[in-house]
Amino acid sequence: MKKLSRAVSKLKPEEAFIYLSKALKLKEQGRDVISFGIGQPDFSPPRHLIELAKKALNDGYSGYGPSLGLPELREAIAEFLNESYGTDIKPEEVMVTVGAKTAVFMGIISLVEPGDEVLIPDPGYPLYESAIRYAGGKPVFVPLNEKENFRLSYESFAEKINERTKMIILNYPQNPTGSTLEEKDVRDILEEAERRGIVIMSDEIYDRYSYDAPHFPTISYEGWRNLLYYVNGFSKTFAVTGWRVGYLVTNRELIEKLETVANNIYSCPVTFVQKALADALEEGINWFKPIFEEFKARRDIIYEELNKLKGVRCVKPKGAFYTFPDVKGIQEMVKARDTVELVERMLYETGVLALPGEAFPGNLSKGHLRFSFALPRERIREGIDRIRRWIEAFKTS
Ligand code: PMP
Repeated sequence: MKKLSRAVSKLKPEEAFIYLSKALKLKEQGRDVISFGIGQPDFSPPRHLIELAKKALNDGYSGYGPSLGLPELREAIAEFLNESYGTDIKPEEVMVTVGAKTAVFMGIISLVEPGDEVLIPDPGYPLYESAIRYAGGKPVFVPLNEKENFRLSYESFAEKINERTKMIILNYPQNPTGSTLEEKDVRDILEEAERRGIVIMSDEIYDRYSYDAPHFPTISYEGWRNLLYYVNGFSKTFAVTGWRVGYLVTNRELIEKLETVANNIYSCPVTFVQKALADALEEGINWFKPIFEEFKARRDIIYEELNKLKGVRCVKPKGAFYTFPDVKGIQEMVKARDTVELVERMLYETGVLALPGEAFPGNLSKGHLRFSFALPRERIREGIDRIRRWIEAFKTS
């Protein structure tokens, strides 16, 4: 095989998937693995959605569809957002994608040119850095302030803006820290971006998992059409990560271009799942309330339990289902070089998986682990108890 293209050789994987296969291998060998690894809800998709998917298959939704997504789903998404957030989004401003990931990737490769700077949160979701480098752009890390609950503040973004800044990527509630943005910061960042002609890409895939305050979306900003590329999806709220359906909202001119990008890459999103989701959205998401309450209770448990561990400092997450504790104390106790080694040993010696901070781009991720708390309360308790017993053995040895 000839040498890889320069662009593709710059891509980096999302390591959560690599650890997922390690945990699966151990499970196959009969180990009881407690995984705080991959970010995927543990509940089943709502029953009626599964029935609607079967119906869509029976009704013949098996062929190609439009690259921008089925019109009925684009319409249902616009209505769903407008009802949820009091916005005024038109179906023509919505595009359905193959998971939120392709929405992010297509946005970056369509807008970022070599030399452009893109501001991204530090620590952050791996895809942003990877796609920016693929496009030849320069990722500029904006540190989240751990002392302020990893707050993404207007001030920290404003400091990094210069004439080469093409785009700012926001992600809230955030992966991996569980922090979120407050309305004032959202408004200030968007105002500044609008004034300076900078594109905002806002990945709000965890919007329904906002525990302490209602989520304030970027699409609520009155002037959003001038500057916004909004990303969301069904993976996390409907527990259909494997169905691969996401969506974006942006202005019509850009959507026209993105249609060609999607047409070149995947022709169209999967048809029958789109039909099922369009029908399911009509019924609203009241069924999500108890799930939300359960996740909130798990958030409280993991926060308390982690903080009880010696060598751990944990900030209370405000959203998503992640927490990103500082574990330098444990790292020292067990004499692990970095969190990659810590995670490997913890997995093989206790059967508990968390993700190493180093799996998340940025300068601040070292010495941290990401715990996804998308697992039952008793498993959360047991997992952390295993870690406690493990580190206690080091203290006494
Ligand atoms: N954005 C963020 C911040 C995520 O955490 C994830 C999933 N881990 C995605 C996007 C991708 O979502 P999807 O499965 O819909 O592609």
